[in-house]
Amino acid sequence: MARAPALVDVWETDPAPGVVVARPLPDAARRPLAFRLDHRKPPARCAPGTPGFRYWVAAEALRRTADLWAPCLPGGLWRLGPVLPVKLNAGEAFNAIYNREALTFFHGPAPPGTAPHGTIYASESPDIVCHEMGHAVLDTLKPALWQAASHEAAAFHESFGDISAILAALQVPELRVAVLAETGGELARNSRLSRLGEQMGAAIRARAPDAVDRDCLRNAANDFTYRDPLLLPAKAPAAELSAEPHSFSRVFTAAFLEALAGVPRLLAPAPDEAALLAASHLMRDVLAQAVRDAPVAPNLYAQVAQAMVNAAAARHPGLPPLLAGVFARRAILPPEGVASPVAAGPAVLAVPTGHPSLPSVLVHEAAPEAARGFVAALFEGGRVEAAGVPAGGRLRTHRLQADGGDMVLHRCLFDCGLMHL
Ligand SMILES: [Zn+2]
Repeated sequence: MARAPALVDVWETDPAPGVVVARPLPDAARRPLAFRLDHRKPPARCAPGTPGFRYWVAAEALRRTADLWAPCLPGGLWRLGPVLPVKLNAGEAFNAIYNREALTFFHGPAPPGTAPHGTIYASESPDIVCHEMGHAVLDTLKPALWQAASHEAAAFHESFGDISAILAALQVPELRVAVLAETGGELARNSRLSRLGEQMGAAIRARAPDAVDRDCLRNAANDFTYRDPLLLPAKAPAAELSAEPHSFSRVFTAAFLEALAGVPRLLAPAPDEAALLAASHLMRDVLAQAVRDAPVAPNLYAQVAQAMVNAAAARHPGLPPLLAGVFARRAILPPEGVASPVAAGPAVLAVPTGHPSLPSVLVHEAAPEAARGFVAALFEGGRVEAAGVPAGGRLRTHRLQADGGDMVLHRCLFDCGLMHL
């Protein structure tokens, strides 16, 4: 008789909806895409509210995300090597970061009555965990985006994280059934699939009501359409679009969800959860191929969208028109559905900082206008670690490195938090 697989109890998508599902016991060390948690393995099947439960939530979400993307990363290695270190609880902040050395998660105080023990752990939300590993996946698929000096590259990294959370959620059978029922089969509707990070969103909203969407951290079911981020404000309340990467990421994520929602109908006359699973794999493959094919250009959204349309042609005849229609409606692609050509910029470019003690820095993977706006926003926001540049109350995402007589701008991490405690 076959032995039943070992199971662990975990949150389905986030602690806030409170839905527990039983999932296969995750093996962090399994390759491809192995990872290593910085905590000792607890007994299986721990109760919610315990450290053991939180461990399994994170481990299962990480394994599920790694398994989702593994077919798209044939070498089976991360950008940083064979094993991705994960720090589950590194200190107080409503935050999570990826820095090419590890995924790191933090904890913060919960608003009264929203979490047991009065604390919220970023690593207890599968949405947040899957988002964070999405940064490591994208960094492996397309390392050049790390240094790219444009609003769209930074925002696309955040969008890919949220898309990872959505696609990873769809690998859970119970979630597929529930979301079909909740949306009546219209998957682009606001649902527990589109609402990412409900618990963390509520905690941040309690302190800063405008900082996050009204029902979660970021909702992929939104009406935002593309605008040139150089023409958007650097910051804005969550109800409006800004050039800030998490805010601007919502445009691409919404387009992806809308396209994904149309795919099950291409695959089955009466879409069921099996068609939804197949749709998630099809869209994963198209996106991964497009990320590899798209040039790293200031109009990265349009370039990836165009590359998705192109990559879809070989996979299903109905997919290119579906994608082109969604991307055109979102104004990511022009109505004729062709991305504008890429103006080839120099590999390294001197860009003014707007900062008095440091007139200019060198940046990589840049085009002049986009880099100027991006670098100015980094310095204005205090995101660059450099002598004389005051911190803006947020983590420094970039640092300067002397190279001969020049200062070169380098990314040091992706900061996924929206609030500094
Ligand atoms: Zn992020």
